[in-house]
Amino acid sequence: MAATENTNEEVKKSNFIKEIINKDNEENIYGGAVATRFPPEPNGYLHIGHAKSICLNFGLAKEYNGTCNLRFDDTNPSKEEDEYVESIQEDVKWLGFDWGDRKFFASDYFEKLYDIAVDMIKKGKAYVCDLTADEIREYRGTLKAPGKNSPYRDRTVEENLDLFERMKAGEFKDGERTLRLKIDMTSGYIVMRDPVIYRIQHTEHHRTGNKWCIYPMYDFTHCLSDSFEKITHSICTLEFENNRPLYDWVVNESGVGHKPKQIEFARLNLTYTVMSKRKLLELVKNSYVDGWDDPRMPTICGLRRRGYTPESIRDFADRIGIAKSDNMVDIAMLEHCIREDLNRRAQRIMAVLDPVKVIVTNYPEGQVEYVDAVNNPEDESMGKRQMPFTRELWIEKSDFMEEPMKKFHRLSPGMEVRFKHAYYITCTDVVKGPDGEITEIHCTYDPATRGGWSDDGRKVKGTIHWVSVAEAVEARVNVYEHLFTRENPDDLKPGEDYKDLLNPDSLSVIEKCYIEPFVRDAKPGERFQFDRNGYFCVDKYSDHSWITFNRIVSLKDSWKKVAEKGN
Ligand code: ATP
Ligand code: MG
Repeated sequence: MAATENTNEEVKKSNFIKEIINKDNEENIYGGAVATRFPPEPNGYLHIGHAKSICLNFGLAKEYNGTCNLRFDDTNPSKEEDEYVESIQEDVKWLGFDWGDRKFFASDYFEKLYDIAVDMIKKGKAYVCDLTADEIREYRGTLKAPGKNSPYRDRTVEENLDLFERMKAGEFKDGERTLRLKIDMTSGYIVMRDPVIYRIQHTEHHRTGNKWCIYPMYDFTHCLSDSFEKITHSICTLEFENNRPLYDWVVNESGVGHKPKQIEFARLNLTYTVMSKRKLLELVKNSYVDGWDDPRMPTICGLRRRGYTPESIRDFADRIGIAKSDNMVDIAMLEHCIREDLNRRAQRIMAVLDPVKVIVTNYPEGQVEYVDAVNNPEDESMGKRQMPFTRELWIEKSDFMEEPMKKFHRLSPGMEVRFKHAYYITCTDVVKGPDGEITEIHCTYDPATRGGWSDDGRKVKGTIHWVSVAEAVEARVNVYEHLFTRENPDDLKPGEDYKDLLNPDSLSVIEKCYIEPFVRDAKPGERFQFDRNGYFCVDKYSDHSWITFNRIVSLKDSWKKVAEKGN
């Protein structure tokens, strides 16, 4: 399915979760309460897919005057770290959401979960199993064939209690025994075939240290945590659809009372990038990118460093809506959202990225004059600034052609063009270096055209941007392209690895370009539109000795047409 095709469809479907909530409210299932949660596992940095889930969960809570918890799903000590806990909180806050005092950790419930497990054993609903992981898989059966009972399934309650206690006390090695629910080895739902709910793992936990060497599994922990926190609507991604019977079973059989409703939606996939935490971690660990916040990464901190605004990401999440089937969203749509936001808000600036020198031969040497430049034509209240004009100027190489092709209306010998906000300027001559490359373009200006307008009705076809040589700020610019060359880098041919599809041109560094002096004191994170060149953001590691800009996005909007057609 083409990435661009289904998006308007998605928008129409976007309300199915609200329909469920509205119905629950009408039927008074939860007394009108709406309590959601965002439950990340702290085993990596958040990405744009998580942003969708954050906007959805916090957005619903806000809309229904409810609550949204931040819950760290930290039941796998070997992959979880405090660094991730910190970064997740930073990212959720940056996106504009606030969990107030509702921050929880699944690990806070370890004691409670253990008690429930013991209780399940007492009720004859759980047993200690000695099968190895491979054997458990073998006994489980397949979609077509039923499983068979574990030989340990009929242990007595006393024996189970004793063994589980000893598992907790550290008597056994990793993997030697598990605690399993006694449900039904012939169930059509494979997850119901006596799922493992506790495993032995002698690994220090980032919060509970060495207190525990048995850890509860996701399917046991998640639903009970939801219940403890009185979550009403537990929204998760589609891959958990098959786990729903188990979710409900555990909540019902454990007797915890409050019963949340699990609702699944499609995860976000974006073209030209990957979203799996395992792959993102690999890109970071093996230095394919420059850290989690590399501006090419789909991580929230990467997008932030690139220059994306929280508003643009929330807008994106709104526009894609909530779907019930998997789909791929065109990254051009995300880019469209940041353009729309910055078009309204970003200060315009002139910057020359690929410079060639112009000498205005009839302009006095050493003179500096200031011309007015509009800061944002979309918003008059942003006012004007003063730009220095001098005898020597930088322009883009691409704005000059010695032998202009048809329809080239920019600078060429004998041609008059507008230097934006300044003057009409005519090219008179070209100076070349020994190997034939152009070193200087000689021009004259018409003093009667100050501001870039002529009173005598004379028209010019081209308008170009420029920067004063004497007054320019020198800067480095990082130009980013897609991280991968294939629209769907998860769609691999035999023998391919997704890393083979990394785009070798995803970053090009322009070491020296020239920018008008307005940006001299720009701070990390400040965003600008460079006239005709795109939107740029001062890099978070930039310093004033040599300012670095990241290109957020070019000006060319391939999504706009699609968006307009859809409206
Ligand atoms: P893992 O592969 O480790 O399970 P995950 O991407 O599911 O990773 P979690 O930390 O478990 O990561 O995700 C937290 C929440 O974000 C979950 O509710 C999950 O459903 C949601 N989420 C994760 N990825 C996406 C995505 N691409 N689109 C929408 N929601 C997502
Ligand atoms: Mg997950």
